[in-house]
Amino acid sequence: MTGKVYIVGAGPGDPELITVKAMRLIQQADIILYDRLISNELLEYASPHAALVYCGKAPGSHAMPQQRINETLVNYAREGRMVVRLKGGDPFVFGRGAEEALELATWGIPYEVVPGITSVIGAAASAGIPVTHREYAASFACVTGSRCHGDKPPVRWDLLAHGVDTLAIYMGVSELPAIREELLKHGKASTTPVALIERGTTSRQRTIIGTLSDIHTIAALRKLSNPALIIVGEVVRVRERLLQAEQQAVTLIG
Ligand code: SAH
Repeated sequence: MTGKVYIVGAGPGDPELITVKAMRLIQQADIILYDRLISNELLEYASPHAALVYCGKAPGSHAMPQQRINETLVNYAREGRMVVRLKGGDPFVFGRGAEEALELATWGIPYEVVPGITSVIGAAASAGIPVTHREYAASFACVTGSRCHGDKPPVRWDLLAHGVDTLAIYMGVSELPAIREELLKHGKASTTPVALIERGTTSRQRTIIGTLSDIHTIAALRKLSNPALIIVGEVVRVRERLLQAEQQAVTLIG
């Protein structure tokens, strides 16, 4: 009997931000193949009999090549196992979940994709930045920052600079200076606020604020590191408003 593979989103970092369905699958799995950004706390819910397989991919180094991950999923399912492929955020948002789904579909292995809260939604919420807002932003886009240099399909910074209000840029830490230059080159105002959110929703979250004119310098000074998101847009101003309101409330009430 063939088993089944669940390609599961673990949410943005805080282990409590996982779906009820994902948690149930973690508890039932025979095998869990998990990525680097998965919190250890979540793995503690696995059955004591479950095999936990690390497939971590640190930027620039691949602990387990994608092809081997794909083959492992297929092989375990063929042995009749219930397999959970646990990924950070949502499996279909820069998660290579579709590559794995395609491999499973090709081999006729039953599979299901379980969505998760993608990291920017979690990180923005906990940093006090709404990705849309009636006064500031009617649209937002999730963009990869790792394709600044000629990869295909290219990121259309020219269109993004004007056509979308809030930009949520994943995998952009090392490319921040180039991304900033692209946006400025295509006419985005240098006063546009930018937030950098490191380890969003975790106990080690750090938020750094600047503008397109100075964010690369601030990031270097503060030693921004992965995983981090770049949020570009007027919505970043809401964070300041919320902080000010909270401060006033403390003064008035306290
Ligand atoms: N599938 C994931 C994204 C994987 S790509 C999702 O839906 O969120 C990896 C990138 O996600 C990182 O380079 C970083 O930009 C972002 N990321 C993931 N978790 C993060 C976190 N807790 N805080 C900030 N950025 C995060």
